[in-house]
Amino acid sequence: MTGTMDVSHASGTTASRGGGPRREAAVSAEVRAERAARARVVATDLAARGVAGVAVDWVDNAGVCRVKTFPIRRLEHVAAWGVGASPVFDVFLADDSITETSWSGGPVGDLRLVPDLDRVVVSAAQPGWAWAPGDRLAQDGTAHPLCTRGFARRMQAEAARRGLALRAGFEVEWVVARAGSADEPPVVAAEGPAYGMQRVVECADYLRDLLAAFAAQDMAVLQLHPEYTAGQFEVSLAPEDGVGAADTAMAVRHTVRAVSARHGLRASFAPVVLPGSVGNGGHLHVSLWRDVVNMMQGGDRVHGLTGEAEGFVAGIVDALPGLTAVGAPSAASFLRLVPSRWAGAYRCWGWENREAAVRLITGSVGERATSANVEVKSFDGAANPYAAMGAVIAAGLDGIDRGLSLPPETHGNPEGTGAERLPASLEDAADAFERCGVLAAAMGPELHGAITAVRRAEGARFPGATAEEIVAATRWRF
Ligand code: GLU
Ligand code: MG
Repeated sequence: MTGTMDVSHASGTTASRGGGPRREAAVSAEVRAERAARARVVATDLAARGVAGVAVDWVDNAGVCRVKTFPIRRLEHVAAWGVGASPVFDVFLADDSITETSWSGGPVGDLRLVPDLDRVVVSAAQPGWAWAPGDRLAQDGTAHPLCTRGFARRMQAEAARRGLALRAGFEVEWVVARAGSADEPPVVAAEGPAYGMQRVVECADYLRDLLAAFAAQDMAVLQLHPEYTAGQFEVSLAPEDGVGAADTAMAVRHTVRAVSARHGLRASFAPVVLPGSVGNGGHLHVSLWRDVVNMMQGGDRVHGLTGEAEGFVAGIVDALPGLTAVGAPSAASFLRLVPSRWAGAYRCWGWENREAAVRLITGSVGERATSANVEVKSFDGAANPYAAMGAVIAAGLDGIDRGLSLPPETHGNPEGTGAERLPASLEDAADAFERCGVLAAAMGPELHGAITAVRRAEGARFPGATAEEIVAATRWRF
């Protein structure tokens, strides 16, 4: 750990130490002028809708959403030039302590955080505010190699280079508790049974306000339901492109937090909120498309997969140990990722198998052309959705490039079948991630190195800790 720092003093030199960002054309004056012109129009519209402040956010490598906010009159300038943010957040831990790598860490450097004007959400439950996901760029306007939104976009472009498009969506699970001291064990806000109608009645106003907020924000919610754990709910969203799905996952969390606060409640997306209970998943659904055809169906391989889709799914199964470090980033993740909790603790796949890390979904007969997809279940609510998305695309494309076939299917409960367990600790996940050539190559040494260092430092935070201590320390960080 390098201890505390003061981001307000970060300024000056280039973002990276050692390797530095890959060079590319800097942003031209014309592009900046176009961004400013567009922002003028957006700002006028937002101001007319009562927006006073814009929050531009990004997700760090520990999975914590960080933010800068600015008054609406600054949007034009910020859209063109970005707002300053230290690169040190690449090695922040979930408790706000800091580690380092040869590229990241320390007080020196500055990045430009640029809001994506196409993804601005006027918040329904946080009046006067708009949210926008940010891209982190170097001061010359080139990509910051550790920007995970940029990584997801690069992987999406890699798919496009092969003529493939992705349709993806995250499921978001959370536990809602009565707002109280963060030191006290949470008192959940709904006591009814798992998936129980009682919970909907108990929380009817809260859930209605959530649905209304999603609708007002033009978010395509597919369903909202009580989940297994006490006080737990889930929302799932219509598929969109990879980066968009990650943006939406974050906007869902902001919305849930904002509506919860208005009801005197507090939401946690942490991997485990109540020790010993089923946790909060962040399952990722992906389908692979060529032109207008869903390649996950209509083929001659197992369960109707096309050859390309089989390679894609096989690539994900192959990379699952390394992917665990991306999708299960906290010590608490390994309290969730255990058998018999539908968390996907085994490195295997199966048709509609909710205990397999990779669940193949064909959907209803008659609807398969659109509904067939693959679900990665081992990811949790602490995962950075951009890193998770980019990593899954990278693993899938690698499977296509290598012409991988799927291993034999796991039909029932994987327990006792000889199926391999996924890494069972942050340390083991970090080892698998460090060895994972496909993720190392896709991410580049700066991002791959930062995620490795953050996982190892997160693991070192809890020597000999009990499950209760780990859960208490992580419950309100995600
Ligand atoms: N909450 C479970 C998890 O930790 C998932 C339950 C489900 O299958 O939706 O992933
Ligand atoms: Mg669920």
